[in-house]
Amino acid sequence: MVAVGVLWAGLLGTVAPSVAAAQGPASLTGYEVRERGRVSVVATPGDATLAESLLMAAVAQDSFPGLPRPRQRVQIFLAPDTRTFRSWNGTGAPEWGAALAYPGLGRIVMQGRLAPSTAGDPVRVLRHELAHLALHELLGDLPPRWFDEGYATLVAGEEQGDGILTVNLALALRGLPRLSELDELFVDGEGRAHAAYALSVRAVEEIARGDPERGLSLFFGYWKETGSFDRGLRRAYGETSEALEARWRSRTRVRYGALAMLTDATLGSVVLLLLLGPLWWQRRVRDRERMERLRRADAEQERREQEQARQEQESLLAELLAELPGTGGSPADGGEDAPRDRPQDASGRKQNE
Ligand SMILES: [Zn+2]
Repeated sequence: MVAVGVLWAGLLGTVAPSVAAAQGPASLTGYEVRERGRVSVVATPGDATLAESLLMAAVAQDSFPGLPRPRQRVQIFLAPDTRTFRSWNGTGAPEWGAALAYPGLGRIVMQGRLAPSTAGDPVRVLRHELAHLALHELLGDLPPRWFDEGYATLVAGEEQGDGILTVNLALALRGLPRLSELDELFVDGEGRAHAAYALSVRAVEEIARGDPERGLSLFFGYWKETGSFDRGLRRAYGETSEALEARWRSRTRVRYGALAMLTDATLGSVVLLLLLGPLWWQRRVRDRERMERLRRADAEQERREQEQARQEQESLLAELLAELPGTGGSPADGGEDAPRDRPQDASGRKQNE
């Protein structure tokens, strides 16, 4: 990707399209050109308002953290629709792409006012692309992809919630990748690319943290001078790339770790619920049925015991009554107490034997 490197905008990106296609419109007929300072915007009259506000924003904030003020002229092509955007960018542009930067050409191609909502805030998207151009103006193709995207995303303030969520999922499901593995994630589908952007932003932030006062400026100077990321890092911050990587990994774990565990726990719970839920329910239903059977059996047993006790009592009474001569009364007439009462009855008379 040397002089004609192609960079995807914002939370985008996959295969670099052919640069020959990145020429913008074949003719400027039907397009308006606005120019201010080093920036010009080519757009249809329909995109005039957007073109004007993008031009204003680009000129109003034309410096980038750690970099000298850019001098390269920049052409911005606003595609009136997605079909035109694709035709200007050639094959290989992902469906979800919103803008492309061509540092070798000093050119940015982005979608106009009819861009899908997923394309993001156009001012931020443009700032992201301009950051790519500014970085390449100083360093050429020295930066690896992760640094390029991390820097542009950070500068444009594009860190997004879903990026963080994806990082958490990536952490929870795969473990944290190495810095050298980040570049592959950009071309590994939209989900992985989101994680790659968020992790790259963290890495660039971690580098800048090495010098709270000057941030990245010394490092950029040494990087250009030595042509080496590692040597630039050592001279600017006195730190090896291995140490940087270790710091990045541990801080990223701390920052996202709790959320990752939560994500992990939540995922785990869902999986457990899906696997064990039906079993638990069956068990619950079975338990309830068993309890009901036990309750019915208990009630039946009790009823039988009461019945048996009643029968035993009746037969005992019948036997006792049968032994008493001359009494044919019912058990309710006095029963076994009757003989003892006789000597002390109300008349006080002794019974004659
Ligand atoms: Zn980018």
